[in-house]
Amino acid sequence: MKKRIMKITVSVIKADVGGIGGHTKPSDALIQAIRDTVKNSADLLIDYYIGYCGDDTHIVMSHTHGMNNEKIHKMAWDAFMAGTKVAKEEGLYGAGQDLLKDSFSGNVKGMGPGVAEMEFEERPNEAFTVFAADKTEPGAFNYPIYRMFVDSLSNTGLIVNRNLADGVIMNIMDVEEGKVAALELWKDKPTIEAALMYPGRYVVDTVTTKDGEPILAASTDRLHNIAGTYVGKDDPICVIRTQKLFPATEEVGSVFNNPHYVAGNTRGSHNMPLMPVKLNSAATINFCIPIVESLVFSMHNGKFTGPFDGFSTPDWDYIREIATKKAIAIRSQGFIHPATLVPSELEYAEGYKARMSVLEEKMKPIESNNSSGEKKENYEDPD
Ligand code: 13P
Ligand code: MG
Ligand code: MG
Repeated sequence: MKKRIMKITVSVIKADVGGIGGHTKPSDALIQAIRDTVKNSADLLIDYYIGYCGDDTHIVMSHTHGMNNEKIHKMAWDAFMAGTKVAKEEGLYGAGQDLLKDSFSGNVKGMGPGVAEMEFEERPNEAFTVFAADKTEPGAFNYPIYRMFVDSLSNTGLIVNRNLADGVIMNIMDVEEGKVAALELWKDKPTIEAALMYPGRYVVDTVTTKDGEPILAASTDRLHNIAGTYVGKDDPICVIRTQKLFPATEEVGSVFNNPHYVAGNTRGSHNMPLMPVKLNSAATINFCIPIVESLVFSMHNGKFTGPFDGFSTPDWDYIREIATKKAIAIRSQGFIHPATLVPSELEYAEGYKARMSVLEEKMKPIESNNSSGEKKENYEDPD
């Protein structure tokens, strides 16, 4: 008789429910409250791991209940509620920041926490990496994901691995409209590129093989679309299966070795480079340089070994130095765009609008402005 292969769901759910003295990192007691809640419901799970990136705490879980499972999501919600209670007792900053609804209803999606989930038949030596970021937005992963699945100069696997050379299906979400487009490599390459060009609007939601095997799932919620106002940046998380038919672990790690500029940082309103950091790092008070951690796991029968800290080896110290230099370089021009975001992306929109209304009041037409006269005919756009 053929051996039944187990279908496992990996659910990664994260939220910022408070930081010590600002948007830095959770307290030990906050983490403990989350851990205790998960432990109390541990019979739902095969395994779990709890950690944090900056002020965002993540719960990585394996189970057999499938995606969007109410019990799993409620347990994570309850855990973040318990963390919030402690954050309030301790007077932590932004206590309950990402819990945007009063009570749980079926699924944490659209309620504030970020979710990245996938269900698959476990391989005998299942390998996956979770990337958790802070002080940035879901589109921060556009550039590394592009390098992983489209750019063979970054990933030789796209040439020599037959499965990757065939191309993948990339589901790209329009986070403003809440729609998803399934795009196919290689025929849709320029369309994928056009979408990924603007990470504030279009973000990678999932990546699968052409026969539907899940490779990548990312959290894509934009908090300000839920809350209607700035409460904090939608610090993203994603999970990527590696090895064999998928990119090698070092192919998904190395695409973070060029700290590209991303939106976020202080007041969620600046562009700064994405710096790879070690597991359970605090956000830096050096203007909140965006950070990303890599949690490298093995899994067998749903049991985790790891995480190995993917950005802990000495070479990443050099990358951190590059990120720090790029951060100082862009900060040297202060509030002048592109160090700051465009007005529509500025998170402190109300304060900015208040300044601009004073400016508008003072604006007077320029008397010498010559708006009459014929427009030149036969003008063609240069190519
Ligand atoms: P978080 O999104 O990580 O909470 O940071 C918010 C912020 O405004 C930092 O300056
Ligand atoms: Mg915060
Ligand atoms: Mg955060």
